[in-house]
Amino acid sequence: MQEHTKIYIDGAWVPSTGSGSIEVFDSTNGEVIGTIPAGTAADVDAAAKAARAAFDGWAATSKEERAKYCSRIAEGLGARMDEIATIVTREAGMPKWLSLLVQAGLPINSFGTAAALAESYEYETTVGNSLVVREPVGVVGAITPWNYPLHQIAAKVAYALAAGCTIVLKPSEVAPLDAYVLAEIIHDVGLPAGVFNMVTGSGAEVGQAISEHPAIDMVSFTGSTRAGKAVAAAASGSLKRVALELGGKSANILLDDLDDAGFERAVRDGVGKAYINSGQTCTALTRMLVPAARLADAERIAQDEVESNYQPSDPFADGARLGPLSSQTQVDRVNSYIQKGIDEGAKLVTGGTGKPEGLEQGYYVKPTVFSDVRNDMTIAQEEIFGPVLSILPYDSDDAAVAIANDSPYGLSGGVWSGD
Ligand code: NAD
Repeated sequence: MQEHTKIYIDGAWVPSTGSGSIEVFDSTNGEVIGTIPAGTAADVDAAAKAARAAFDGWAATSKEERAKYCSRIAEGLGARMDEIATIVTREAGMPKWLSLLVQAGLPINSFGTAAALAESYEYETTVGNSLVVREPVGVVGAITPWNYPLHQIAAKVAYALAAGCTIVLKPSEVAPLDAYVLAEIIHDVGLPAGVFNMVTGSGAEVGQAISEHPAIDMVSFTGSTRAGKAVAAAASGSLKRVALELGGKSANILLDDLDDAGFERAVRDGVGKAYINSGQTCTALTRMLVPAARLADAERIAQDEVESNYQPSDPFADGARLGPLSSQTQVDRVNSYIQKGIDEGAKLVTGGTGKPEGLEQGYYVKPTVFSDVRNDMTIAQEEIFGPVLSILPYDSDDAAVAIANDSPYGLSGGVWSGD
């Protein structure tokens, strides 16, 4: 149980000005594993002022100095990899062995890459008789999601630090415990006060306050389309720069020139690319497009792949491939999409609503495959964020491309060909 009672502002652990707290749940059994302060707009104001005050000094440091801090943070993360992987597996449900590589490994990579980039980057270039100088944008507000929580944080914080920006971070309230590890490491490496600040809390309060704050020059947001729109609207008042990384409903096109072995390999790989992190991945390839003549083969192979290799289990168990979802909210959401797929007439190949057998505790859902899905069905249009794959038949390459593009999303995509 991790009871966090402080937030991190101006180089110190301080209490929030509010009195509320938010519970954090263990995805494997639904128990409370931690609490964090429900921060306030006043906390964001204090953090933004600290970041503003620290900016000129930090922006003036040498690139070697900034690289040194990024490297030390990478080393600090490396020393706590196992702890980070365990925390994120509890928060988000990814199998522990994969969490070590991805959830703990990618943040180390980000800080390491940022260190190298800080040193090698050309901040000044000459174009004709003009000198182009690249400067840090200022104070950056970072608002992050729960599915790859520390990776999303590192992908913003590391590069902002390397560029000479100062930061106000709001981690996801669903998976904030890993962010405390990073803040502790940042404190231990002695980053100058005010360069990095962390205010925990809800999106509606803390996220909104960051988006609105006039002293924050840019907001970098990763999360849902719904919240991204709220961030962009709130940020417009101060005309700050906004970077939004939102959701996806990506297509994986299997072309008709694949031989049987290639087709089988593509279907099995496609299941994995839809199911990674229990489908809680923005780039998940959740629409598999197959030639109509091969629909039955795709169903048979996908069913075998899911039933043989992707049965849900405790993510800490040896050989786990598919853990639980991150929250009860997600379980309800995913089950309601599965029900919609059935109601709208898609063919249920495997899975369905309800708990998998023997996994009544924790946020588990049944890995599900639908076939004969039409692209106008809800399950083909909306992001589900669970282990739900839709297989859609197509008649020609052009039709496949048209189906792939007939989506409000545009994040990712895959193509398999024999050529
Ligand atoms: P979410 O939008 O609910 O929350 C993301 C963050 O935004 C959280 O910190 C939350 O507290 C905050 N937030 C919520 N409402 C807000 C508001 N009104 N103003 C400001 N901040 C607000 O998303 P989630 O459920 O945590 O994550 C899942 C979503 O994130 C999915 O849609 C997924 O596709 C997307 N995602 C995208 C990428 C990418 O790189 N494109 C990566 C990971 C996740």
